[in-house]
Amino acid sequence: MTTQFAAALHDPTLLRSAAFIGGQWQDGHSGAEFAVTDPASGARIASVASLTAEESAQAVDVAQRAFDAWAAMLPQERATILRRWFDLMLTHREDLARIMVAEQGKPLTEARGEIDYAASFVEFYAEESKRPNIEGITSHLPDAEVELWLEPVGVVALITPWNFPAAMLTRKAAAALAAGCTVVAHPSSETPLSALALADLAARAGVPAGVFNVVTGAPATVVTPWTKDARVRALSFTGSTEVGRMLYAQSAPTIKRLTLELGGHAPVIIFKGADLERAVSETLKAKFATSGQDCLGANRIYIERPIYAAFVEKFTEATRALSLGRGMDDPDIGPLMNEAAVAKQEAHVRDALAKGARLMCGGARDALGPLFYQPTVLADVPEDAAIMREETFGPVAPLAAFDTEAEVTARANATEYGLVAYLHSQDPRRIYRMTRALQFGMVAVNRTKVTGAPIPFGGVKQSGLGREGARLGMEEFMEIKYVCRDWA
Ligand code: NAD
Repeated sequence: MTTQFAAALHDPTLLRSAAFIGGQWQDGHSGAEFAVTDPASGARIASVASLTAEESAQAVDVAQRAFDAWAAMLPQERATILRRWFDLMLTHREDLARIMVAEQGKPLTEARGEIDYAASFVEFYAEESKRPNIEGITSHLPDAEVELWLEPVGVVALITPWNFPAAMLTRKAAAALAAGCTVVAHPSSETPLSALALADLAARAGVPAGVFNVVTGAPATVVTPWTKDARVRALSFTGSTEVGRMLYAQSAPTIKRLTLELGGHAPVIIFKGADLERAVSETLKAKFATSGQDCLGANRIYIERPIYAAFVEKFTEATRALSLGRGMDDPDIGPLMNEAAVAKQEAHVRDALAKGARLMCGGARDALGPLFYQPTVLADVPEDAAIMREETFGPVAPLAAFDTEAEVTARANATEYGLVAYLHSQDPRRIYRMTRALQFGMVAVNRTKVTGAPIPFGGVKQSGLGREGARLGMEEFMEIKYVCRDWA
């Protein structure tokens, strides 16, 4: 661990480089490690333990042993512990945000916002765990009482990506813990430090040993034993559609519950008559938040022809005004996660230009460093460009004109993804028709920010299965037991 970075934290002990299993920090018997680097500078900030498949399987033993006591605990007691975890996250907000910036690169303000968002799930599920988990139903049998009991499924596996290293973990973990499940979690090897700091705070909050375990290492090595283990009753994954599909297949033999939050390819549709200034500023957020590395990120921006030229001009001007810099300096846009992410921007821009798109601004790596890509606007992007079909996951905004509602609906739906769609219009009938016609799990009208702990987040088609957040997010980790009672 770099002592310089640790020294800058209020509580340097939050920087952990070992896995957390059974309440103990474990370096792993093999001694293998992987590097965590700062995307802004390329500097190594930590070397984290890389566990073996056997050690990962042992984490399930530990979680299984801890299950009965945690599941039997009064929901009010679990709620108190979760509430303490929430409080500790807010107390340590600044350190958690700085750890995130160091490993993920996002601007400091966004990192602070993510910690608040991550904590909000812990608070929400602390409350939700106290709500009734028995439902009465009307009996269809004479003299019999019928009930539904909601019970924790057992040990659950949580696998999280690098773009939201804190919120993607707490959105799953708080729901699972509130439901009475025990957890084995695997964070992305790009950003494990946020998860380990959260595990430290969970332990300080009183989450008992073995209830919340974090296993670091090569994903195929440490996650595969969980997909094969029949004791792992649910697997909740956020990441790419490709890996989600593979985990789904791997989990089939043990018939697990699967929650999959996968890729997205959000269309933004802007009709004439929409508030143009607002459409520009909201679309700017939808495109460039998290430096474009967001599953909710605007990936195709369709503008009705009569306002197209004006939108292109204003959006380009606003994009040019965005600052690019190191996350710690709190710019609008930070570095991308890795070389593959930058190479993808370059490939998408090259391909779109070759197919006739116009470069309005950006379009190149920046002199700040190898992982900095300039915020970019492409106009007149044809529908057959790769960027109109594949997730770009970066700060490149493709704009295209459309003529009719039917045409743009068909174009928006012509994707394997179905996570979120953004719509700008002031015509209520059109908003209603479009909201019904768009094949997406979430539709945002005249705004960008729609997520939060009380809403069910999730997609349709190849964007995933199940929902996170809200009561539904907790029920992903619960089984229904039907009870029919006759007192005779
Ligand atoms: P990824 O699929 O490469 O990795 C996600 C997680 O899976 C990581 O923990 C990784 O270690 C693990 N993993 C990778 N290969 C694995 C394997 N062979 N076996 C088991 N586990 C494996 O995704 P990423 O690059 O970290 O994140 C970006 C992707 O996540 C994008 O596609 C984005 O759209 C998606 N995402 C979706 C949501 C959502 O809620 N729908 C949210 C954030 C990110």
